[in-house]
Amino acid sequence: MFSRNRNQHGYVLLGRGLAVSLPRDDEEVSVERPTEFFDAYLFDLDATIFLGDELLPGAARLVTELRRRGIPVRFLSNNATRAPSQYADKLTRLGLPTDVADIANTVATMTGWLLANHPGEVVFPIAEQPLVDALREAGIAISEDPGEIDVVVASYDRGFDYRKLQIAFDAIWFHERAILVATNPDRFCPFPGGRGEPDCAAIVAAIEACTGTKCVQTVGKPDPSMVTQALRGLDVDPARCLMVGDRLSTDIQMAVRAGMPSALTLTGDSDLDDVAAAAEADRPTWVLRRIDHLVPAAVWAELGWGDDSSD
Ligand SMILES: [Mg+2]
Repeated sequence: MFSRNRNQHGYVLLGRGLAVSLPRDDEEVSVERPTEFFDAYLFDLDATIFLGDELLPGAARLVTELRRRGIPVRFLSNNATRAPSQYADKLTRLGLPTDVADIANTVATMTGWLLANHPGEVVFPIAEQPLVDALREAGIAISEDPGEIDVVVASYDRGFDYRKLQIAFDAIWFHERAILVATNPDRFCPFPGGRGEPDCAAIVAAIEACTGTKCVQTVGKPDPSMVTQALRGLDVDPARCLMVGDRLSTDIQMAVRAGMPSALTLTGDSDLDDVAAAAEADRPTWVLRRIDHLVPAAVWAELGWGDDSSD
């Protein structure tokens, strides 16, 4: 059993040499953090870079500083309700000008997976418009006729209803022809104020419950195919790239599977108790209260940065 002890410096030791800080007398103690830069950075978006329509503290100056140093930065998201171009537009609007080529999400990974693994097959996407549009643009046949559906694709779909569940049920259970796949395993999407929206896992669970079948493939994090897509065009070793995210089960688990170092931000889904409860091999390399703690402390001093900035 794993034990948690606060040492004389205020760190909580979590094994593997991992140390994180806890608030002490309303004051944050400094964190143990990377002492050098990596060759590239992969950032989750929801609850890591932004929450709702606001960048999280430190995100803007961190990304700006990495880019100033010429270090590649890529963003990735399990969220299929937006096309990569919409994420690029959102980051740009929030003050981080971003090219669409720097975004990887499950709209692209699901489209690529279907083309590679089920060419010519008929798909029923339980999805919002960006994924439906991407499938159509890729030439993938789409149908709502359960008698001809080969693949039911579940995703984060705020238009999910009984009609769509019936079609999936008929294609999988009655006609016994369709398989069930999913864009991502997330239970909910974090929103400001501690709220959230039910995500893809809820829709997968509904279909699994009535059909008795299991989802056979998930293409979002933690599947390492997201890393491959995010690093396309970059000649970098994943072992020298840092994956940064707020969720142990997706962001950090993908890094573990891809052989990447990782950092967990405490600005979203996973907290210190979750880290403590995780198996040692599944823990992040670092845990951060502020994402800009990824910039080594020595560079903070050079830049004159403080912990109180909301940039
Ligand atoms: Mg997230």
